Amino acid sequence: MSNDCVFCKIVSGELPSTKLYEDDDVLAFLDISPAAKGHALVIPKAHHETIKDIPAELLGKVSAVVKQIAQALFAGLGAEGVNVGQANGPVAGQVVPHIHFHVIPRRTDDGLTFAWSHQKYADSAEMQQLAAKITALLTPNT
Ligand code: ZN
Repeated sequence: MSNDCVFCKIVSGELPSTKLYEDDDVLAFLDISPAAKGHALVIPKAHHETIKDIPAELLGKVSAVVKQIAQALFAGLGAEGVNVGQANGPVAGQVVPHIHFHVIPRRTDDGLTFAWSHQKYADSAEMQQLAAKITALLTPNT
């Protein structure tokens, strides 16, 4: 728990929230400034700043709730699509430094955009070099 973290205050009840799901480790609630009505946030109750910090097992529990919320947005709100978003670090757009997943219901012509540009690799060698830097740090699931 971090004393000045908005999401920790929601977990503790110091700040109100409209809860959608709660268990010992995970909380889901409605975003108070939704990109679309039904926009949910899913967080671990424990304070972990980014995906670098959260234990993989806990991330799995959070992800399972993300899946349930997404299914409920489809089935319960009639969403035609769902975006799941998760930002790490201010440069990536993370505003609250307590890891969270946005689960946003989508409808045709809802006007929402998640625009990014599309770059090109110089050649396949550049792709292979980048892939090698990434794969050197990965380990198989256990
Ligand atoms: Zn926190």
